Amino acid sequence: MAPAYRLSGMVGDVPSLALPNGTRVPVLGQGTWYLGDSDATRADEIKALRTGLDAGLTLIDTAEMYGDGRAELLVGEAIAGRRDEVFLVSKVLPWNATRSGTAEALEGSLRRLGTDRLDLYLYHWRGSAPLAETVEALQRLQEQGKIRAWGVSNLGSSDMDELAALPGASGPAGVQTDQVLYNLTRRGIEGDLLPRLRSESIPVMAYSPIEQARLLGHPALGNIARRHGVGEAAVALAWVLREPGVIAIPKAGSSQHVHANLAALKVTLDADDLAALDDAFPTPGKPVPLEML
Ligand code: NAP
Repeated sequence: MAPAYRLSGMVGDVPSLALPNGTRVPVLGQGTWYLGDSDATRADEIKALRTGLDAGLTLIDTAEMYGDGRAELLVGEAIAGRRDEVFLVSKVLPWNATRSGTAEALEGSLRRLGTDRLDLYLYHWRGSAPLAETVEALQRLQEQGKIRAWGVSNLGSSDMDELAALPGASGPAGVQTDQVLYNLTRRGIEGDLLPRLRSESIPVMAYSPIEQARLLGHPALGNIARRHGVGEAAVALAWVLREPGVIAIPKAGSSQHVHANLAALKVTLDADDLAALDDAFPTPGKPVPLEML
């Protein structure tokens, strides 16, 4: 049977996939790390997020960690009056991910974001709290309607095994995504995590999809970008999105970059493009420990 997340639907003008709970989300979203850190760029950043929303990039990813809450405050300002358009994702820090700490952390995020619920709440990375306790805390918040769904981030295959064994962690009300580092220079998940999640119809949310801009300027990307008449970031994103079951969440601090990233949705990389990218950015070819930024 074909995985439920095939690109058979659209959210607005953007291709979408279905989470395990059936909610459709656009495959291209908006990251927010480092947004809100400088007053000088604040207005441009808010405009960039709104430009993205106007174009259908309605999945916004943030975290209590980013700028100690400054990114959530900025997102709150950007989505004011438009909350219902947004699929809002935030994350709890590992040292807050206890039974009571998770609930407290969520209250802080909701306050900064100016909303009464999150669409998806992620466990940012694994810390010392027992996984079962964190999952129970997330499930309780879901029952209370404060979060619509929950997921994880930076969990590798063995962590996912442990998670899958917990009550209620699999299936429609269970884990909705694993948000992990994935881009042309970070292909480790292709060995085991990506196929495994795909077989369970759990989408991967690819963070740092353009390697925090370090990918830009690579000659292999430049050649392909010229051929398709788009920027290098669009090629890097189109490459991430070539895989079914993957959502990419680039961060863009300007409307110009948002538009350049949207161009990824029009790019279909052909066999020659993919072969050139494989040559320039080889996959490790064996399972490797999950990398994190
Ligand atoms: P990224 O999206 O790969 O790269 C962002 C950088 O690329 C910024 O410097 C941005 O510059 C630049 N950029 C974006 N679009 C561009 C374009 N069209 N042309 C040229 N430059 C462009 O890196 P990221 O921010 O680390 O990752 C994306 C999101 O993933 C984060 O913002 C965050 O929401 C999430 N994340 C999650 C984790 C986790 O542990 N779960 C870790 C890292 C990131 P401008 O700002 O000037 O546009």
